[in-house]
Amino acid sequence: MSSVPVAVVTGSNKGIGFAIVQALCKQFPGDVYLTARDPGRGQEAVAKLQKEGLHPLFHQLDIDDLQSIRALRDFLKEKYGGLNVLVNNAGIAFKVHDTTPFAVQAEVTLKTNFFGTRNICTELLPLMKPYGKVVNVSSMASSSALGRCSQELQQKFRSDTITEDELVGLMNKFVEDTKNSVHEKEGWPNTAYGVSKIGVTVLSRIQARMLNEKRKGDHILLNACCPGWVKTDRAGPQATKSPDEGAETPVYLALLPSNADGPHGQFVSDKTVQPW
Ligand code: NAP
Repeated sequence: MSSVPVAVVTGSNKGIGFAIVQALCKQFPGDVYLTARDPGRGQEAVAKLQKEGLHPLFHQLDIDDLQSIRALRDFLKEKYGGLNVLVNNAGIAFKVHDTTPFAVQAEVTLKTNFFGTRNICTELLPLMKPYGKVVNVSSMASSSALGRCSQELQQKFRSDTITEDELVGLMNKFVEDTKNSVHEKEGWPNTAYGVSKIGVTVLSRIQARMLNEKRKGDHILLNACCPGWVKTDRAGPQATKSPDEGAETPVYLALLPSNADGPHGQFVSDKTVQPW
């Protein structure tokens, strides 16, 4: 078994995830895994970084596929006996003018952004080594969507006692409410992406609390963050930040020094803790 530290970035064949791998290859003292759901796109991205003299490794990972997640989990367990850095970056968003029915957009968006990210955490958090770092890439869209929820929902999402099961129940309810065309009446904002990212931010707050309760002595730091508005296939060319700039906050959180006791359980943007 290798004692080399290991970092994994989900959805890193392009966009912000690719820039995070690139930065980690330069700054993280260990093996860095570029992962992609499509091995062809993943290997192509690895080759691009190799041309720059960097040495990422590759593993297939589709966060929508539990078998694929478990294959990565077993590989990490066997080869490294765990994991030091996990960046949950993979995510999707329908374009603003997409005509796909809203209920379908809600189901598909939550499936990857919330449920896929949660499945990764369920399978990989138990593998995190002491002083490990977990970064869940959320979005400022989560805070703006939170502000557009009913007071009752806002209270639930800001609660310091909400459980993961309750959060999952609320995310499923959103999808059901969109199918029955009652989501606005039920206090939800009209954004599937925003709600999926509320799920990611709240999940991060819950997971940080669980780490405090169950693994306090391990000094693992887990946060959600927003990369900013970044020029990628998702956000388009009018966005303000380059992918390298978008990677800065996730990489800062992934490389917090071992003597840092925070941030932990926070929502961070521009390397600054944001109110939730
Ligand atoms: P992007 O260019 O569209 O890249 C998304 C990456 O996620 C791609 O590598 C994609 O793979 C991968 N992915 C999607 N579904 C996946 C799945 N089921 N399993 C594994 N990988 C999957 O988007 P981006 O702008 O870099 O976004 C990265 C993250 O930042 C997302 O979580 C996004 O919500 C967040 N974010 C972005 C912005 C922004 O302005 N760009 C702002 C706030 C937050 P394929 O190539 O196979 O599709």
